[in-house]
Amino acid sequence: MIERTLVLIKPDGVQRGLVGEITQRFEKVGLKIIGMRMVWVDKEFSKEHYKAHVEKEFYPGLEAMITEGPVVALAVEGIHAVTQVRKMVGDTEPKIAQPGTIRGDYTHHSYESTSGAGKAIRNVVHASGNNKEAEAEIELWFKKEELHSYKTAQEVHTF
Ligand code: AMP
Repeated sequence: MIERTLVLIKPDGVQRGLVGEITQRFEKVGLKIIGMRMVWVDKEFSKEHYKAHVEKEFYPGLEAMITEGPVVALAVEGIHAVTQVRKMVGDTEPKIAQPGTIRGDYTHHSYESTSGAGKAIRNVVHASGNNKEAEAEIELWFKKEELHSYKTAQEVHTF
């Protein structure tokens, strides 16, 4: 039941000064930040992280977007963390992401607005899609020693 997942605050989120607000949302629901790194990824790393999308029409735009500035990577742990985080992040397409979700609250672009322009949609965050993906992505973004095991105040004071 206790799962780990990867969240990326993408360059558009970092540039807009949303690192604190986005991180706080996960903390507020009680999820535990167990790893945090700021990285400026290169094209090679982008191809590794987005290997499922490399052949897609929007990939050149996706690569340009993810390498245009630093990214903040968070390893997040908690009960059903993968599904919980995906729920909080909202739909990939900001146009249909519900208000209250990160993408619904901070973005408004649509596939229509980027298609044909060779661009990737700017949706501020990435979150692993399932447990298998989460495991592989955490391994890609974090060394073992960068992931921390500790007790939150709630764990220390309420048990
Ligand atoms: P995902 O692995 O589903 O997070 O997709 C990677 C990222 O690629 C998304 O977060 C968007 O930024 C972008 N993306 C996905 N699908 C499209 C699309 N059809 N058109 C433009 N950008 C897309």
